[in-house]
Amino acid sequence: MSVGRVRPAVAAMASYQPGKSSAQAEDEHGITDAIKLASNENPYPPVPAVVAAIAAAAGDVNRYGDHRAADLRTAIAGWLEVDVDRVAAGCGSVGLLQQLLLAYVDPGDEVVYPWPSFEAYPIDVQLTGGVEVTVPLVDHTFDLEVVAGAVTDRTKLVLLANPNNPTGTAVHVDQLRRLVEQVPDDVLVVVDEAYREFVTADLGDPIADLQPDHPNVVVLRTFSKAFGLAALRTGYAVAEPSVVVELDKVLIAFAVNHLAQVASLAAIAARDEVQTVVDRITVERDRVVAALRADGWDLPDAHANFVYLPLGSQTDVVFPEMEKRGVVVRPFPGVGMRVTIGTPAQNDRFLATLAEVTAGS
Ligand SMILES: *Cc1c(COP(=O)(O)O)cnc(C)c1O
Repeated sequence: MSVGRVRPAVAAMASYQPGKSSAQAEDEHGITDAIKLASNENPYPPVPAVVAAIAAAAGDVNRYGDHRAADLRTAIAGWLEVDVDRVAAGCGSVGLLQQLLLAYVDPGDEVVYPWPSFEAYPIDVQLTGGVEVTVPLVDHTFDLEVVAGAVTDRTKLVLLANPNNPTGTAVHVDQLRRLVEQVPDDVLVVVDEAYREFVTADLGDPIADLQPDHPNVVVLRTFSKAFGLAALRTGYAVAEPSVVVELDKVLIAFAVNHLAQVASLAAIAARDEVQTVVDRITVERDRVVAALRADGWDLPDAHANFVYLPLGSQTDVVFPEMEKRGVVVRPFPGVGMRVTIGTPAQNDRFLATLAEVTAGS
């Protein structure tokens, strides 16, 4: 039975599918000790100063937090050396993404993005009644010439996850500049840098290198991945002040909750310590990539905190066998498998389980 007259755009949508938890996999398969490498989370808890700040603020949650997260915006601006009116805070970077769509996309407007990419993009575009214009990846990375060519006078936004999720590939800021130069000034080019802190190659910085000349570039970042605060939901945007004004109009009241603000402020203060954790993860990433290549796997360079195995139809066989053995990764049916970098022991278990499951194939 369906009650109420749901909007056709919403009726046609699929729900966002989060990665399976280790507890769910254990229940389903009657196993113990499952590990979740499916949601690109940080395998380590937040640094102690951040945990302490959250604990100290727990007694304050009877009050609403600061709707605009003003102190957090000021701290981000100081950290990144940008004017504070260029910083927006949101409920995760997915919150800001939805705000961008709500503020800029009317039914029938086009949103251009490469595909496969982040699964939130089609959901948000469909929600607003926008038209999805997807550009296939070439060798698992963006073909930015084709992306530029897909922009029309109906295009409002271009969405680029850099590094891309799920493939882990990344483009240099000079390639982004060539794209931005080909796109009309009134099209927002959104660079979603959820994994920025894990990038060890010199790829430049769209805030310093692009925004001064191109006010239509919007950069999204998050405290969810490198800073280990996924459950608290803090994201931020750095953009031209007029974009920040529009984003703020569609920010749900108090969406950046008080504990998220306190934790994110403490994380900025402790960022040197956070960097040590990030370094541990990128060293592991490079070890896992080398081990997979030594085992004969063909995979794209990994610039974030995950690896991508383009297994094609083999995905649909390998993924369930891995899960039965307690290694929960993220399948893209018929296309490939994304595996989050965990602790060294978890990564060893992933490598051993993959080898076991694919032996002889
Ligand atoms: C994980 C991820 C995000 C999510 O970020 P939140 O800040 O937790 O909402 C955004 N973009 C991409 C590409 C991601 O992979």
